[in-house]
Amino acid sequence: MASEEFQPLQGMSDLSSPEISIWHRIESTTRRVFHLYGCEEVRTPVLEKSTVFERTMGDTTDVVQKEMYVFEDRGGRRVALRPEGTAGVMRYIAGLGQDGNDARVYYIGPMFRCERPQAGRKRQFHQLGAELIGPANAAADAEAIAMQVQLLRELGARDFKVQLNTRGLSEDREAVVKGLRALLEPRRAELGEDDQRRLDQNILRVLDTKDEKSLPIVKSLPPMTEFMAESSRAYLQDVVSHLKRLEIDVVLNPRLVRGLDYYMHTVWEITHPALGSQDALAGGGRYKITIGDRAVEGVGFAMGMERLVTALQKDLGDAAAAPKLALIWVVSLGPAAFQENFRLVQTLRMRGVRCGLDLAGRSMKAQMRAADRAGATAVIIRGDTEMEKGVFVFKDMATGTQTELAMPELLERLQSVNLVA
Ligand code: AMP
Repeated sequence: MASEEFQPLQGMSDLSSPEISIWHRIESTTRRVFHLYGCEEVRTPVLEKSTVFERTMGDTTDVVQKEMYVFEDRGGRRVALRPEGTAGVMRYIAGLGQDGNDARVYYIGPMFRCERPQAGRKRQFHQLGAELIGPANAAADAEAIAMQVQLLRELGARDFKVQLNTRGLSEDREAVVKGLRALLEPRRAELGEDDQRRLDQNILRVLDTKDEKSLPIVKSLPPMTEFMAESSRAYLQDVVSHLKRLEIDVVLNPRLVRGLDYYMHTVWEITHPALGSQDALAGGGRYKITIGDRAVEGVGFAMGMERLVTALQKDLGDAAAAPKLALIWVVSLGPAAFQENFRLVQTLRMRGVRCGLDLAGRSMKAQMRAADRAGATAVIIRGDTEMEKGVFVFKDMATGTQTELAMPELLERLQSVNLVA
């Protein structure tokens, strides 16, 4: 364990090789797939006025109440590190006016929540997400889910499960809250402490409790769709039929509510068995968010990238990483050869060959060791003799065979070893 001095803050991590190549593959696949659905990237600031999140996410949500990094900046302004991506994107979309009405955007980046760190819960984590702006439309909701499923399939994830539910419309909300309250209030004392608080502040959240004490009561409740208007139930059925048409399997989960106040109609979560107790890989839903004098409607989702990395490692092993170029090491026997090789390496790099050489004038043995340590696929050796003859010694590291090659053959040979999976 390295000394504390070299550690990042608790709940935050340095992301580096070799794992970083899984991140690269996720990012490039995300950009490609989301582009297929007409989404453009938006990069909103990591730091915003705290009201951007408080107003959008609702100030009774756990994330806003307990987890947001909020502080005063040097000018005495109340600012917050973004705990999720949607609020900043909504501020951006609202600012576009009419042009934002049918925008499709995606984002990839770090989010911050000051939670108790544990497996699957970091204080700095990363999300990729998208928002498809537009009025309530079951086909759009199905498309948003399809987009996420295509991403997961293209990345090679297996065993993930899409769980679906509806929050109904705001008109339904009153009936749902009333219905749930009538059933839960008499049993208040039997609920866990947090759920008793939620009963007063945000009763829907009681439904997705993880508290063992509350679970038996919550499981005995009827699905909240029972309290909703027929049209809201029909909307959910439409989403399900669209998904069926796209051959996407979903499971209806009547207790799924998602934590935020802004959801209406469709909500969903994608789970993966590799994630243990924090098994949510992604969450999404349809929303109507009011910012100033504007209301933005749309459907969106966010996927936790740390959790996605874990799921892909489980499903794919080594194949989770992005393919890497093979490494060619160039060994110089003597200073004159180094001068020529220094240029050779540059020429090769300009032709797309990944290569390296020793810059410190060390012995041939030390250079060969370095090649080995760096995982070189092949080594090119050149000294005074080779320069006089105008050749290169090409050593295949896997077989140990050495061949003398002139420049054209060398280039041909490099073509054949250039890419490895
Ligand atoms: P949420 O909007 O809170 O449901 O977050 C969407 C996704 O982000 C979740 O399904 C997780 O995959 C991921 N996520 C949320 N919070 C954290 C966290 N503290 N650490 C790591 N991933 C997280």
